[in-house]
Amino acid sequence: MKTYDADLIIVGGGLVGAALALALKNTSLSIILLEGREPVLDFDLASWDQRVYAISRASRKLLTQIGAWDRVRAERLSPITAMKIRGDEANAKLEFNALESGVDELAYIVENRELQRALWLALADSPNVQIITPAEPESLQIDHSGATLTLNNQRELHARLVIGADGANSWVRRQMNIEASSKPYEQFGVVANFACEKPHYGAAQQWFKTDGILAWLPLPEQASFSQNQMSMVWSCNEARKNELLGLDAAQLAAIVAQAGGKALGELKLVTPPAAFPLKLTQIQTCVKTRIALVGDAAHTVHPLAGQGVNLGFGDVAELAQLLRNTHPERIGDLLVLRRYERARRESVLLMQTVCDGLQKLFNNQNSILKSLRNIGLGFTDSLPWIKRQLIRHAMDS
Ligand SMILES: Cc1cc2nc3c(=O)[nH]c(=O)nc-3n(C[C@H](O)[C@H](O)[C@H](O)COP(=O)(O)OP(=O)(O)OC[C@H]3O[C@@H](n4cnc5c(N)ncnc54)[C@H](O)[C@@H]3O)c2cc1C
Repeated sequence: MKTYDADLIIVGGGLVGAALALALKNTSLSIILLEGREPVLDFDLASWDQRVYAISRASRKLLTQIGAWDRVRAERLSPITAMKIRGDEANAKLEFNALESGVDELAYIVENRELQRALWLALADSPNVQIITPAEPESLQIDHSGATLTLNNQRELHARLVIGADGANSWVRRQMNIEASSKPYEQFGVVANFACEKPHYGAAQQWFKTDGILAWLPLPEQASFSQNQMSMVWSCNEARKNELLGLDAAQLAAIVAQAGGKALGELKLVTPPAAFPLKLTQIQTCVKTRIALVGDAAHTVHPLAGQGVNLGFGDVAELAQLLRNTHPERIGDLLVLRRYERARRESVLLMQTVCDGLQKLFNNQNSILKSLRNIGLGFTDSLPWIKRQLIRHAMDS
């Protein structure tokens, strides 16, 4: 009889891979989590991560259930209580607030590193999860009896199922020859954090402009300086990205303040800018016999709706539920894994289509489209029922 080192191996311990391991904590399944980089659990609390995420209420629910949310420190968390979206004409706007949606918060802003820390702390308390880091997988073989993953130190690991949670350039996906169509947006997400002169009152703000999409996300107040802060994501073309990265701190703060119409007064740079290339990734299938892909390994979206990692947490909720309800001997069966694929297909495709469509609509210089998109924003703003449906979908999907 075949012996396994674990029922499943998860390759990649980013937010999605770590969340999946945790979601299977109180099960009979044994898990090996392989992560290439050692986790950073200790960091300077006077500084702020450039990577900041809007976490939906549905993702918060999952993170609470798996024991990670309560480990996020309250002073690193900022609720979003309102959203203000503007087009590229003066009166084109769409506004939502938590009160009219009947909730206390629309979403939550948290740093990548803080959420990663919370997940890793919770994992340390998970007896059925063995973590190997830093780990570098070298080859992956599948046969009728199982999967064999060989590390670069020649250690062989046998399992019934391998999960690829290893990001947009997934090694697991490439080993399995799963085709991925990748469409670069020819845009970069330029991120940086700023102290601001005026309070943000928990509002996220977004400007859809012809030369890119600018988002300001509320950060928690820095208690020691009683300072208001916000995190910026500016999705823009390469020339604009190079210009922004080439500016000194004061010039960058001035340009960003101006681009947002000084809505938060004068700005001061607190975390230097970084840029991430943006692309749409769609794959032919997210499952094969003994293989499943989750998170960015399975899909990427434009960050204009802040939904990338939220989609990944949706994968985690669905796959964990399926694996919990399947006999361990069958977890690698293609027929079982196809249920996961079917359950996720619609949500992923819908989010990719909406984000892609909005990106195209606002990246277009055609004057008729320009008028239509601005009218569309104002029209939606005047329809409370439509607004409620939109916000409910964004909050709870
Ligand atoms: C500018 C920008 C802003 C964004 N804002 C938001 C937002 O507000 N809200 C939101 O929901 N999403 C947002 N996203 C998307 C979000 O960043 C991703 O969807 C999310 O990080 C994906 O998580 P993941 O765990 O799937 O992949 P990753 O974060 O890429 O993690 C993959 C992990 O696998 C490890 N790994 C990779 N290869 C190997 C290997 N061969 N062996 C072992 N380990 C390996 C890596 O070290 C890493 O830890 C944004 C993205 C960008 C670019």
